[in-house]
Amino acid sequence: MHERGQRLFAIVQGSSYEDLRRQSAEELLEIDFDAYAIGGVSVGESVQEMFAALNWVIPFLPKDKPRYFMGIGLPDQIVKAVGLGIDMFDCSIPTRYGRHGSAFTNKGKLNILNSEFSKDLRPLDESCDCGVCQNYTRCYIRHLLNMHEITGVRLMSYHNLHFYIKLMERIRTAIEADSYAEFQKQFLTDYNSELLTTL
Ligand SMILES: [Zn+2]
Repeated sequence: MHERGQRLFAIVQGSSYEDLRRQSAEELLEIDFDAYAIGGVSVGESVQEMFAALNWVIPFLPKDKPRYFMGIGLPDQIVKAVGLGIDMFDCSIPTRYGRHGSAFTNKGKLNILNSEFSKDLRPLDESCDCGVCQNYTRCYIRHLLNMHEITGVRLMSYHNLHFYIKLMERIRTAIEADSYAEFQKQFLTDYNSELLTTL
């Protein structure tokens, strides 16, 4: 018995082997868990292998239970995985990428350490309403990162987390409006994502 509100997740394993993924999913389904996770992805394999594993497993997982893609991912990967039926994610990308100079925007990822931003007075993302984008410029944040000033990594992390939170809100809104396919296509187009061609 679990405490109220607790859910026991099973984790489907099987690496990049279709037969082992299916066997793992089927045997875990027999036990009847509260929720199902897909594990062992995002550990160095290609994006194609990651989505292949998802495509093998997702038909087995009950739609009325949470489905969790572990350790994913970049914004376009999240949008794509939701389109395939995933409900939940966890990832260090927003802060880890932020600390290394990558800012996420609707038009893709910017490496703010690039010299082209050294005199750029625009915010990280011109369409973002976060506190960082309202108050700081790309060139100032770039300067902070180059000086290894801790404020720089904090500002980058704040913006990226805000971007991810807003992205998940937009995903939920699109699902509720029954317009996810249109949202996905528009997002992947604006983001200039390689995943657009695999839709
Ligand atoms: Zn922002």
